[in-house]
Amino acid sequence: MTEPTDRRRIVIAGGGTAGWLAAAILTRQLGALAEVTLVESEDIGSVGVGESTIPTVRAFHALIGIDEQEFVRATGASFKLAISFENWAHDGDRYIHSFGDVGKSTWMSDFQHFWLEARARGLAKPFGAYCLEHEAAAAKRFATGGQPALNYAYHFDAGRYARYLRQRCEANGLRRVEGKIAGVEQDPESGDIAALVMANGERIEGDLFFDCTGFRALLIGETLGVEFEDWSHWLPTNRALAMQTSATEPAVPYTRAIAHDAGWRWKIPLQHRVGNGLVYCADYLDDDAARERLLASVEGEHLIEPRLIRFRTGRRKAAWHRNCIALSLASGFVEPLESTSIHLIMIALTRFLQLLPAGRPSAAVIARFNDQAAREIEGVRDFIILHYHLNDRQEPFWRDRREMKVPDSLAERIALFRDSGNAFQADHELFRVASWLQVMLGQRLTPDSHHPVVKLMPPDQLKAVMKSMSDTIATTVRQLPPHQAFIDRYCAGSAG
Ligand SMILES: Cc1cc2nc3c(=O)[nH]c(=O)nc-3n(C[C@H](O)[C@H](O)[C@H](O)COP(=O)(O)OP(=O)(O)OC[C@H]3O[C@@H](n4cnc5c(N)ncnc54)[C@H](O)[C@@H]3O)c2cc1C
Repeated sequence: MTEPTDRRRIVIAGGGTAGWLAAAILTRQLGALAEVTLVESEDIGSVGVGESTIPTVRAFHALIGIDEQEFVRATGASFKLAISFENWAHDGDRYIHSFGDVGKSTWMSDFQHFWLEARARGLAKPFGAYCLEHEAAAAKRFATGGQPALNYAYHFDAGRYARYLRQRCEANGLRRVEGKIAGVEQDPESGDIAALVMANGERIEGDLFFDCTGFRALLIGETLGVEFEDWSHWLPTNRALAMQTSATEPAVPYTRAIAHDAGWRWKIPLQHRVGNGLVYCADYLDDDAARERLLASVEGEHLIEPRLIRFRTGRRKAAWHRNCIALSLASGFVEPLESTSIHLIMIALTRFLQLLPAGRPSAAVIARFNDQAAREIEGVRDFIILHYHLNDRQEPFWRDRREMKVPDSLAERIALFRDSGNAFQADHELFRVASWLQVMLGQRLTPDSHHPVVKLMPPDQLKAVMKSMSDTIATTVRQLPPHQAFIDRYCAGSAG
């Protein structure tokens, strides 16, 4: 490999969501410091799913200079405040995991302790009544720019999103190469990746390579041999069937995640269609039965027939190895239940830029990157396992999830909440206390006790505080427009 010069040659292998997000931020933020090339193959195509996001997407969009209104129009996006979990604890049950904070905490005791006390005294509404985003989602209402502002994300069309990003990147000087990568050349001395070799013989040399080749993991896995740490004993779902249908009802501001006997089903509302998918474990449900189940559950005209996607949950032991940084599916996959993959791409890219080495990446820089990446994805892993583990369903798939031994980190968290009503957000962890609480309570985990200090509060005062909080939220929600009406106005240019 030639020694890196000031102007770094960065090569992105793959043009799915990961590849185009990498291209977008590198071309936007590095300017003359980098010469960015993206290689993709229309024959191979991208995974074509990944349409539900979390609020961090908005900060990343700001970094790449995206105008929200333009983006919402271009990608057929709708707004997302939450995920509606249906049938998870048991059939017929429903809870909403929203992006909002719940209630107000004090330095000594978080809000849930007040709520648990108020509930014990018959003074509390459901937990979600103290969260603006929860109540707005439940009422299917939404607006940007209100006071207080809603914490929101988007649902978007993955194909349109990639095309939208591509247009912007090419305008920023990105070089795009179309064709199949037939081989990857390593420097015989250092072992670093030296070049991608295309099917037509063209060599694309680089100093740094992003592996965005999806589940194939051509660079990090096939070439550099970085091992995959398998998490399927905790998260055994390994198949998804994805299909698109026309919309039959106004778009709701949440993703639906509906449990079935061997996994769950998603429903993602966009402006122009609905994304549907069935996630399952092949040991408990065969592909034909899964297909029938999905077809029986969708509404609207079929725009594409179900497409099978095979996956394995787990992560590469190192996301960055030598001069190769793997993003998204090439670096690991937890499963899409909490829509975290696109976030993990974005956070990896921002971390890469913060650590950007001046020359050849040192072992210390790589170790720092990998350590943070490991902690982030392990936090997401534990959060997803929580949904599966705390269930009261009777089918073999669910019984096995309930009885499995969970990671110690999660077992300790569950014990803490069960014993004392306490929850926490660890360093480098994505999910906030409010998320852990909404899901633990939603999955019907009830604490045995809570903080004693809240018992000092006189009942009248507790009642008045709780009422004032939920009344204020209810009033704010009533003033919001229906989500679909907001989208219609927003895209016509009259809302903002
Ligand atoms: C069932 C399912 C549902 C999901 N839902 C969500 C969700 O709701 N929210 C979320 O955040 N994430 C979700 N994800 C994850 C999300 O889809 C991915 O994070 C995202 O699409 C990024 O994928 P990617 O770019 O890594 O891979 P891909 O989309 O597979 O792209 C791979 C790219 O590599 C190129 N390529 C591969 N091999 C070669 C080669 N030999 N030569 C040239 N080019 C090559 C392909 O052409 C393609 O451009 C979901 C994933 C699955 C499987």
